[in-house]
Amino acid sequence: MKPGAFLLALIPLARLGHAQSDDTVPIQQIDAYITRTMRSARFPGVAVGIVKGDRVVYLRAFGRADPSGRRVTPQTPFLIGSVTKSFTALAVLQLVDAGRVELDAPVQRYVPWFRVGDSTISSRITVRQLLTMTSGLPQVYETQFWTDRDDRALERTVRLLATKQLTGEPGRTFGYSNANYETLGLIVQVVSGESYENYVKRHILDPLDMRDSFLSQDEAFGRGMASGYRWWFGIPVPVTLPYRRAELPAGYIIASTQDMMHYLIAELNDGRYGNTSVLSRRGMALRHAAGPGNSYGLGWEFVRFGERTLINHDGGTANFQSSLFIDPAAGVGVYVAANAINALDAFASPHGLSPLDGQTTRAMAHVILSLATGQPLPSEGIGHRRLTLIFDLMIALLSVALVISLMRIRVRHRRMARQGIPGRASLWSRIAFALVLNLTLPVALVYLSLAAPAWRAFALFQPDLLYWLYAVAVVLFIKGVLELLFIGRVYRQGQDARFMARRSHIETRVVVVGGGVGGLAAARHLDRLLGGRREVEITLVNRDNFFLLSPLLFEACSGVLELRHCAQPIRPCLRRVRFLEATAQEIDVARRIVRVAGPDAARELPYDQVIIALGATTNLSLIPGSEYARTFKTVADGLLLRNHVIEQLERASTEPSAERRRGRLTTTIIGGGLVGVELLGELTAFIEDELRYYPDIRRDELHFHLFEAGKRLMPESKPFLSEYADRLLRLRGVEVHVATPVQEIGPAFVRWAGGRVESQTIVLAAGIVPNAVAAAANVARDRRGRVLTEPTLRSTSDPRVWAFGDCASTPSPHGEPYPALAQHAVRAARTAARNVAAVIDGRPPKPFVYESLGMMAAFGHTRAACDLKGLKLTGFIAWWIRRTYYLFQMPRWDTRFRIAVDWTVSLFSRPDLTKIDLAEERELEQRNQAANGSRTGSLAS
Ligand SMILES: Cc1cc2nc3c(=O)[nH]c(=O)nc-3n(C[C@H](O)[C@H](O)[C@H](O)COP(=O)(O)OP(=O)(O)OC[C@H]3O[C@@H](n4cnc5c(N)ncnc54)[C@H](O)[C@@H]3O)c2cc1C
Repeated sequence: MKPGAFLLALIPLARLGHAQSDDTVPIQQIDAYITRTMRSARFPGVAVGIVKGDRVVYLRAFGRADPSGRRVTPQTPFLIGSVTKSFTALAVLQLVDAGRVELDAPVQRYVPWFRVGDSTISSRITVRQLLTMTSGLPQVYETQFWTDRDDRALERTVRLLATKQLTGEPGRTFGYSNANYETLGLIVQVVSGESYENYVKRHILDPLDMRDSFLSQDEAFGRGMASGYRWWFGIPVPVTLPYRRAELPAGYIIASTQDMMHYLIAELNDGRYGNTSVLSRRGMALRHAAGPGNSYGLGWEFVRFGERTLINHDGGTANFQSSLFIDPAAGVGVYVAANAINALDAFASPHGLSPLDGQTTRAMAHVILSLATGQPLPSEGIGHRRLTLIFDLMIALLSVALVISLMRIRVRHRRMARQGIPGRASLWSRIAFALVLNLTLPVALVYLSLAAPAWRAFALFQPDLLYWLYAVAVVLFIKGVLELLFIGRVYRQGQDARFMARRSHIETRVVVVGGGVGGLAAARHLDRLLGGRREVEITLVNRDNFFLLSPLLFEACSGVLELRHCAQPIRPCLRRVRFLEATAQEIDVARRIVRVAGPDAARELPYDQVIIALGATTNLSLIPGSEYARTFKTVADGLLLRNHVIEQLERASTEPSAERRRGRLTTTIIGGGLVGVELLGELTAFIEDELRYYPDIRRDELHFHLFEAGKRLMPESKPFLSEYADRLLRLRGVEVHVATPVQEIGPAFVRWAGGRVESQTIVLAAGIVPNAVAAAANVARDRRGRVLTEPTLRSTSDPRVWAFGDCASTPSPHGEPYPALAQHAVRAARTAARNVAAVIDGRPPKPFVYESLGMMAAFGHTRAACDLKGLKLTGFIAWWIRRTYYLFQMPRWDTRFRIAVDWTVSLFSRPDLTKIDLAEERELEQRNQAANGSRTGSLAS
């Protein structure tokens, strides 16, 4: 909506129609009243007309017709809603006048197939009962969503009644239901032999000269129909809803206020409008004959007000409302139409026969009628403004309560963790409470949305409440799931702690040495298989208290991922496995102990079964001077390399010597395997991104070298991957040296047979050697020092020793040992755990058989390549698959969530330049302290 249009709406301007002046009608008072009420309710547009006798004495329009700011005029068509019922009743009475319909005849005389749920009662329902809504037909909500536009739409609506039960005996009690008037509309069609639309147009609209009135929304829009609005938290929001032909005779005539004046004139003048008559005097008398008290007659509602009986009908679709009041004694009729509504508005003013018709236009029409006839003013009820305020306040309060309850989840969880859950009774009561509190609303909403058409109809009128409820339901559902998880976790932790404390008479001790990709997986699997057995004790030993998912280390190094997020604390991953943060020093297979050194003291861990998963380290003995190169294996390696690269950029930007500057801007990777290639891909992307902060460094000053002794890059993968990597790296300006063994590494240079390059950043990724402790174990080993195992992963020399991963050599079915890759280590870990459990139970172990899924490699800047069982993918899709795969390799959801957040943020954020070197910072701090100390000292002296 244009702001100008909104301002225009706040200052309603009256547009006059063709009204004749009448001194008895207080025009200014009525104008002021309409303006005030319109502002208070925040109606975008309103049109009002008053007829006295056969004259229009007031006809004005206020506000805007649609979001463009177009003004409402007395000729602007509005949907009149249920006021349509009086038109349908008029059509039926015309047919009664013509002797073609009898009021007390059964409906089945005109529609022989007419049925309700109880077919015996169907024949007792009469036309009069439909008109007075005493037939017992229920309100049918399904049809309020039908958008059928064909000629049989009405028939289908009436046929649906065969599935509905009556709400009461026909003829006994009043029950407001559109179904009565839809059936009457069908009777008009059947008896007249023409469509309801044609009949009403030919016999009512045309004779009354209602030129701006329509029975089709498309046609009405073409002739300037107003746009409907719904109030969302009190603010009018435009909405165009489908035209419901299936419900037309009950509420879908579209008419301008000026046209409705013609209709009112006919009502007040025995059916005559000018020289035309739309109903006989007798017919009109019948139509205006009120029952005792407040009652519903033939298409009109009769309202007792003081000594007078007023004729009324209100109308409301989901985006328009209107109301019509006639004082027959005074010969005055009032019509008010507005282009906004919501369900809340049904309670804005004192209601009529239906408890839901207390809408604002009803109060307006009644007040204006009283002003025009000099009668005491009726009560206007609470009013839309106050209702909205209460509604908005309640929504705000409930939202705040929800937010507070969300914020307190952690506190409640901590308290629960402190107190523990003592037993099953307490567990179930907590679960039941969490379920009732959090899942009642989501479940109720799902049920209502699927199985309660009345709810859907309500939602059509109050979308703000609906969407708020859905949002709350989603939040409550997530909260409920979280609380159930917390309860489950606290209960489980309590159980586990009790279990571990009560463990005695341990018969079998299983020790897993190394908690990396494979070791942790093995420990978790053992936990599942043997954790619940009191006589078995499982211990996991790892140097750090976290495990590193190496394939994420590249992005952690470049800052795409928070450094800690490529690692995962080990303890939360384990339930009934003892964890020891210690360095294994020796595996003494003769004494069956693992000797470990913890932070305080060394100790010996006896075992019955030991799993060695110590991984490998970079091979530093291959190339002379390897100690000058950096390695890239651990979290510390990642952090140090990142700091080093940023440091080189910082220094190069101020370096006066061209030679030294070139050395600082040259990055060299030795080893063109998976690790070297992926690392260089990430580094080229990272350094290029960082360059935007270093205006003194040109892109062409950056140099990258990659050395591979073999004939192609990534020899462990299919040629397709290595070709892609080769092409991409060259495109990024990397000098790729294949079949080029490096002969020497120096403090800041690399030398090979064909030359030498000065480089401050040298990373060695040219091969691995098994972990020294594994390689020193007194078991059969291969020539490289890896533990030799049978296909079952059991040592070939010691049945109590198992090994897999980078420190082991296990023959695959093809005879070759499995490669040193994470995907193999994880699968082997599970087999090893299963086999250890089998051996403890006296069952034979099974061989480890694994066919690789393929290979994936990422190169930064959303570029990657994968070969998945022959399916070759490159670019963004490959990058996305690789990321998603490794995301799910992380054992816990909270870490997965953090990683996903990091990745999402990095898509939109600038590269991070922070260089945190703790050792350097500590040194600086100490230097500062010393300097401050000496200064203080000199001052004191
Ligand atoms: C940077 C990088 C990227 C990689 N990318 C991929 C990839 O994309 N795809 C793929 O399949 N493979 C990849 N790999 C290889 C993969 O990470 C390894 O094959 C896999 O981690 C081997 O698992 P593991 O359990 O044998 O050893 P590791 O995962 O290395 O675990 C060994 C564990 O033992 C601990 N440890 C070592 N010595 C001691 C000691 N004395 N006492 C106590 N604990 C000790 C270590 O701290 C570590 O936790 C990559 C490797 C690296 C370095």
